[in-house]
Amino acid sequence: MSSTPEFQHTLGKAAGFSGTSLHKGEKVTLKLHPAPVDHGIKFKRKDLQDEPTIDAKIDNLKMVERATTIGEGSVRVHTVEHVLAALFAMGVDNAIVEMDANEPPIGDGSAQSYVDVIKRAGVAAQEAPRKFFDVRESMHMEAKTGALLILLPDETFRISCTQAGPNNRFTQFLSIQVTPAIFEREIAPARTFVYYEDVQSLMDKNLIKGGSLENAIVVRGDAVLSKEPLRFTDEFVRHKILDIIGDLALVGHRIHGHVVAVKPGHGANAELARAVAREQTRRDAISVPRTLPVGEGGFDTDEVMQILPHRYPFLMVDRIVGFEGETKCIGMKTVSINEPFFQGHFPGHPVMPGVMQVEAMAQVASILLFKLAKTSSRLGYFMSADEVKFRKPVFPGDTIFIHAELTKARGNRLAKAKCHCVVNDAVVSEGELMFTFLDK
Ligand SMILES: [Zn+2]
Repeated sequence: MSSTPEFQHTLGKAAGFSGTSLHKGEKVTLKLHPAPVDHGIKFKRKDLQDEPTIDAKIDNLKMVERATTIGEGSVRVHTVEHVLAALFAMGVDNAIVEMDANEPPIGDGSAQSYVDVIKRAGVAAQEAPRKFFDVRESMHMEAKTGALLILLPDETFRISCTQAGPNNRFTQFLSIQVTPAIFEREIAPARTFVYYEDVQSLMDKNLIKGGSLENAIVVRGDAVLSKEPLRFTDEFVRHKILDIIGDLALVGHRIHGHVVAVKPGHGANAELARAVAREQTRRDAISVPRTLPVGEGGFDTDEVMQILPHRYPFLMVDRIVGFEGETKCIGMKTVSINEPFFQGHFPGHPVMPGVMQVEAMAQVASILLFKLAKTSSRLGYFMSADEVKFRKPVFPGDTIFIHAELTKARGNRLAKAKCHCVVNDAVVSEGELMFTFLDK
């Protein structure tokens, strides 16, 4: 465990390829370009006047029939899910997807050609931390199609998917963690599959001019028709996972969570992406906590300063929000961008130093010791810290709740406190602190 944040990534250089579009059957050239920090993924229509761009965000979702379509104003891009899945899973946070048509080249119906072009461009780290959506409570989504999606807390991004065809034919299950290596090997080569009865009417209406056995597997009854044999015996569920990754990329944040999907489709995937994005917006809006932990009354800043000798910039407790009995208390500190340590830690991507969180724990624990000793003639001195772990980075604007619990107070000379810091309901750091008492 370390306090080093994961950084955003973009492409090392531009790279592209040409192919056929699925719906119109026209030649299209796709080119991926690097983009700056916090840019996200944007599609660029090079074939239109002024070359408009469309943000790959769930708010721009227009259609989920057969493929995922996004748009801004009257400009649309279709079938974005496979290139988005490849960018997202290969670790690209910021990029421009430039195309001279309204959809990317379909390739062989998998994400293979996009992975190839990303690898040719290379992936490069940038100087800003990645944005994560941490699943705190389970969320779920159910659609009339029978699709069921459940999102559970997890420290990684995982997908466990069950795919089932008509009359439960071709029922397949796969559970994976989404990493670049696993995606490239297990998911990216899995091709689109369609049921003959679904595509027949589309072919009659001339809606999939570029569709052929070269870019999709066609299932007719129990028969599997494709130009080349199945790449995996469970290729269908792998492609379902590919689509989930691509659709959830529209959230804009990387997800720490476990997606459990049963018979997923673009509609349900997009609904889950929308719910996650909505929850993220709600979290972003909360600059101060809605509720303070209950306790037996706290101390305001003045009272804290009567106990602690520390002053700005070394006072790391704004106030004590409450005590629980004699041995537990919770302090609070709002971390402002004006904290002097942000100037040098680090320019361009401010992260609160872990040692300052340990200092905050020590100060809150000292208040507990003071209250226990019921005397101001002695001070608790911080001697040592054990089992210190930094779990997540703390950024400007975060409110830290500092929990301290006295576990040992020996002969009024030594004391031990178990402490942890919490931001947005997640433990960001922890440690066991030892104190000794000295006369003032
Ligand atoms: Zn797909």
